[in-house]
Amino acid sequence: KKWTGSEIRETFLRFFETKEHRRVHSSSLVPANDPTLLFTNAGMNQFKDVFLGLEHRDYSRATTSQKCVRAGGKHNDLENVGFTRRHHTFFEMLGNFSFGDYFKQDAIAYAWELVTSPEWFGLPKDKLYVTIFRGENSVPRDEEAYNLWLGQGVPAERIHEFGSKDNFWQMGDTGPCGPCSEIFYDMGIEAAEVPGVDKPFGQDDARYVEIWNLVFMQFDRSAQGELNLLPRPSIDTGMGLERTAAVLQDKLSNFETDLFTPLIQRAGELTSTTYKDGSAPSDASLRIIADHARCATFLISDGVLPANEGRGYVLRKILRRGIRHGRLLGQEQPFMREMVYAVRDEMQGAYPELKESADRVAKIVEAEERQFARVLELGSRQLQAAIQEGSLSGDKAFHLYETFGLPLDFMVDAAHDAGVHFDLEGFEKARAEEQARARASWKGGSKQSASPAFRELPKTVFEGYRQLRVDGAQVL
Ligand code: ATP
Ligand code: MG
Ligand code: MG
Ligand code: MG
Repeated sequence: KKWTGSEIRETFLRFFETKEHRRVHSSSLVPANDPTLLFTNAGMNQFKDVFLGLEHRDYSRATTSQKCVRAGGKHNDLENVGFTRRHHTFFEMLGNFSFGDYFKQDAIAYAWELVTSPEWFGLPKDKLYVTIFRGENSVPRDEEAYNLWLGQGVPAERIHEFGSKDNFWQMGDTGPCGPCSEIFYDMGIEAAEVPGVDKPFGQDDARYVEIWNLVFMQFDRSAQGELNLLPRPSIDTGMGLERTAAVLQDKLSNFETDLFTPLIQRAGELTSTTYKDGSAPSDASLRIIADHARCATFLISDGVLPANEGRGYVLRKILRRGIRHGRLLGQEQPFMREMVYAVRDEMQGAYPELKESADRVAKIVEAEERQFARVLELGSRQLQAAIQEGSLSGDKAFHLYETFGLPLDFMVDAAHDAGVHFDLEGFEKARAEEQARARASWKGGSKQSASPAFRELPKTVFEGYRQLRVDGAQVL
């Protein structure tokens, strides 16, 4: 059977409905009641207060397909996008949740049934691996999960053990936490990190793909750091739709699945570029455009607007990165607005809100494209002035990069053409310092959502040319 992305999404939700889960719609990418979180980055976000016992629902089991963005903040996969086969800025996380209802035994049995049963996804068991928490920092090994996986028929040599970094989850410094188990799929030697080199599980991140994370919320950590057993432990899981699609469609890369190929195709048309074998730099550009178009479309649809700080800044960065890759492919006219409609056409079935928002989103995207074109022009003038002075210092280049969004390779080329020295080391140093500052000012994220307030979102520099700023009022 060939599975489409939509069928996989629907099958997941239907499977859990047969297990008495309530199907709940995805929440907005802008977290409703959590100022510590930049964007919704996991299925559990919308249920945080339910897990904490602060809110009650008329169901104790839920299943969702959740829109997630991992760009900026604690989970930041932005730099990976286009260069790994399985990281996106925007992706869909399929999840099942138990609010003090079933626990580990059922969670593991359900996951194994869905993944391996021929009536459901039917993946071959000899390509699957699972992980458990091996115990660390006086928290015991997850003996129970180990035995439950054995009980499902998973051979001991396919159950691997890791420490807190991979297999222990916590909501914040205090509160609910617990071990997790992850399910991995072996994409085969063709996917190996080093071509042709056959490495075992745990030593090749390109070949063994994490598809599903099962979190067992069983402890409550006190302010003193003690772990107490939760009276009603809970379940939170997250399965990546795009990765599952790659597995079920026999593709090495998420970008080769039907969730992406129409978008890559459209990006190719709009930039007069053909997708080659996947390894060409222009292929990476097309993947980045496809990814960033999804992300920008959903963010704007959920109410984020391009801005110079906070959420809007991350959106602006993503949009401009997409636009810049269009320029690398030779397209200097607005094209991202057309990508918005391509995203709508692909995704409106699962996310009907796109039907209503697409025109508004496209207008905002186009305004940003036009503004960025002006900024590039102004930045180029400053760049030329600096070059005429005979050298381009790292600090100056970083200023142009950060304030005008002038791409690094653009500046390197311009300096090279003029026979002027470009201080790449100084540039990298200035960039690293800025990144450290941004990290220090943003301590939020799903694993630490207890503390900082919204005002602590990264205040990134982008002070230049405020008079050109496009805000919602002007655009609409
Ligand atoms: P990885 O280790 O591969 O970065 P993760 O451990 O950070 O993944 P989780 O936080 O466990 O991911 O999220 C649950 C699931 O969501 C993962 O098992 C994966 O299938 C999917 N996922 C996570 N990050 C991304 C991403 N950036 N793009 C696409 N899918 C993702
Ligand atoms: Mg990750
Ligand atoms: Mg992981
Ligand atoms: Mg994980």
